[in-house]
Amino acid sequence: MPDYNERYRRQMMMKDFTPEKQDKLKNASVFVGGIGGLGGATAAYLACAGIGRMVISHYGNLTETNMNRQLLMDINRVGEPRVDIAYENLMKINPEMKLEMYNVRLDEEKAKELISGCNIAMSARPNFPERLAMNKACVDLNVPMVEAAMDDMYGYLFTVIPYETACLACNMPENDKDWKELGFGVLGAVSGTIGCLAAVEMIKIITGHGEPLNGRMMHIDFMKMRTVMPKLKRNPTCPVCSHK
Ligand SMILES: [Zn+2]
Repeated sequence: MPDYNERYRRQMMMKDFTPEKQDKLKNASVFVGGIGGLGGATAAYLACAGIGRMVISHYGNLTETNMNRQLLMDINRVGEPRVDIAYENLMKINPEMKLEMYNVRLDEEKAKELISGCNIAMSARPNFPERLAMNKACVDLNVPMVEAAMDDMYGYLFTVIPYETACLACNMPENDKDWKELGFGVLGAVSGTIGCLAAVEMIKIITGHGEPLNGRMMHIDFMKMRTVMPKLKRNPTCPVCSHK
């Protein structure tokens, strides 16, 4: 067994980050929807922080174009399922973690099945149908979800606290038909930054450490290094979260 006090000593040295908070991470179960440039950073830092159980969905095999941003991958294993490569690398970070990997795309049913039993979820899916499916599953299961995305030199994240703050469908109830999966540029450091912010937000919510985003969206313009934090309003006619 690991020496918890030693491994997590540096984070337990943070002001007010008590051993009880560390235990909350150990007892937490998280869902990470995607381990590419964005979700891969989230998963790695959650593993580092001592999360007890992680469930991951990510579809597809490694291609050379993934390597400019996906730190959990391995250039020598192009063509292999990314969940297999990520599994081995996450286990090197935190071998005590219970880790479940699913090489699947998410629809509502699959999302519900995988997120059920998790305390919090993070969405980094590369397309709107899967994001909306995760959003619906999290609202229905009453599981908080960090929604994180990036495009070119811009990134955003917000947290859905079901029935308290706006969900994804409050502002974007339908698939954007003009949007093409993988049809935009990505700088690895940008996707990684947003993924790290999502990990911070999840750790805060799990442990009760600090203040979560609480209905605000963090939008970062990396071209100008500017951040704005608009409030997101709940939609009283939202097809997903207005019924309660
Ligand atoms: Zn809603």
